[in-house]
Amino acid sequence: MYIYSIQTHMQPRDSLERFLDDLRRRWPIARGSLCEVAKPCVRAGCVACAQGEKHRSFIFSYRQAGKQRCLYVPGKLVPELQRALEGGQWLERRLSELGAALVFAHRHQRGSPARGAPRRKSKT
Ligand SMILES: [Zn+2]
Repeated sequence: MYIYSIQTHMQPRDSLERFLDDLRRRWPIARGSLCEVAKPCVRAGCVACAQGEKHRSFIFSYRQAGKQRCLYVPGKLVPELQRALEGGQWLERRLSELGAALVFAHRHQRGSPARGAPRRKSKT
């Protein structure tokens, strides 16, 4: 376990260690979306399709080189993939915070007062 600095502006090294520690705890992580679909199959005389129930499956969609891609996801993998996607959202939030921290640390070093960029959300 790492001892975190309570200071608003952490040293870059502390910040990296903390980030990697958090990332390891969340690994594996993913970016994309998971949705459940119901489709008819190709089997002749399928009872589920005849009753209009169709077949439920999970699709993972993600972007690769600017193109939308889709993959079927086995049911057993769904909980882990959901967790990975939550980890991906955490990572995106974290990267934004790190970007802001970089700017604030630079201001702090230069001793310049915080300048009035518009604040959309109050930060703790
Ligand atoms: Zn069917």
